Amino acid sequence: KQPLLEVRNLKKYFPIRKGILNRTTGYVKAVDGLNFSIYPGETLGLVGESGCGKSTTGRTMLQLLKPTEGEVLYEGRNLVGLPFGELRQIRKDMQMVFQDPFASLDPRFTVGQLVSEPLDIHRVLQRKAKTRRVEELLEVVGLSGHYANRYGHEFSGGQRQRIGIARALALNPKLIVADEPVSALDVSIQSQIINLMQDLQEQFQLTYLFIAHDLSVVKHISTRVGVMYLGRIVELGAKRDLFDAPKHPYTQALLSAAPQPNPLLRKERIVLQGDVPNPADPPSGCAFHPRCQACMSICRTEQPALKEVDGRYIACHLYP
Ligand code: SF4
Ligand code: MG
Repeated sequence: KQPLLEVRNLKKYFPIRKGILNRTTGYVKAVDGLNFSIYPGETLGLVGESGCGKSTTGRTMLQLLKPTEGEVLYEGRNLVGLPFGELRQIRKDMQMVFQDPFASLDPRFTVGQLVSEPLDIHRVLQRKAKTRRVEELLEVVGLSGHYANRYGHEFSGGQRQRIGIARALALNPKLIVADEPVSALDVSIQSQIINLMQDLQEQFQLTYLFIAHDLSVVKHISTRVGVMYLGRIVELGAKRDLFDAPKHPYTQALLSAAPQPNPLLRKERIVLQGDVPNPADPPSGCAFHPRCQACMSICRTEQPALKEVDGRYIACHLYP
């Protein structure tokens, strides 16, 4: 199967500027050489603690941020460096769902304006058809079409997220990058939104990149899962493999931190020591080494490459 989207050696570095002259004194390597593919119809879960570069990955992939290096192939075509006009056409196929769709918007926006904005930008429908399309989109996500004239603040977090999803669907995309779409919601509402996204995926043959900081959030919806640490993927594989037998010490720690309802499956909890290191000054060798219980001397000096091990990808010296 051909990937819908393929990322090759993707990097995004942000300059650190200091002093009166605003000189660049270094870089935050927010995304530091990612390689992965997303296949049609699947959900790739992308997980890691905050600040590990998940959002930057999503945005750089969609060219909302310009990559420092690397390629992003969409249906085989490199998006990096495409002229604006061509990119704009392709970008219709890819939409984003954010934590709170109203957060960055003028509170005077109605729900209808929010949902129809992508239609306006691409001038795809006349006014009457647009009104109908907005109602239809609201109904698709389980809301009443009458909500179009109301305002964001009148709705609960879960309803607001449904509205955000309706907006993302407006242009019939193929790929949706969902950046922590349920992180701000109560657990009971989280599963409603995840179920909705799964239904929509089937109904419209959508492909998802689903970003979360918590493995348990992506467990249900993902086909495969990638785990990120300080701008790199440390483990990527089929969901079942990753959850049943995590191999990278960081994946193991993340999983053992998640609540396990079945006492028979409960393992001794691995406590992650310390905080995520400063991405502007990452540790030498394996960036995870100061927090890793399995750290060996090679780990302090040599950065492990992402390699295929038993049908999954791992970046760790324990798996040569
Ligand atoms: Fe731990 Fe070494 Fe593997 Fe890094 S490379 S995760 S420090 S064992
Ligand atoms: Mg983020």
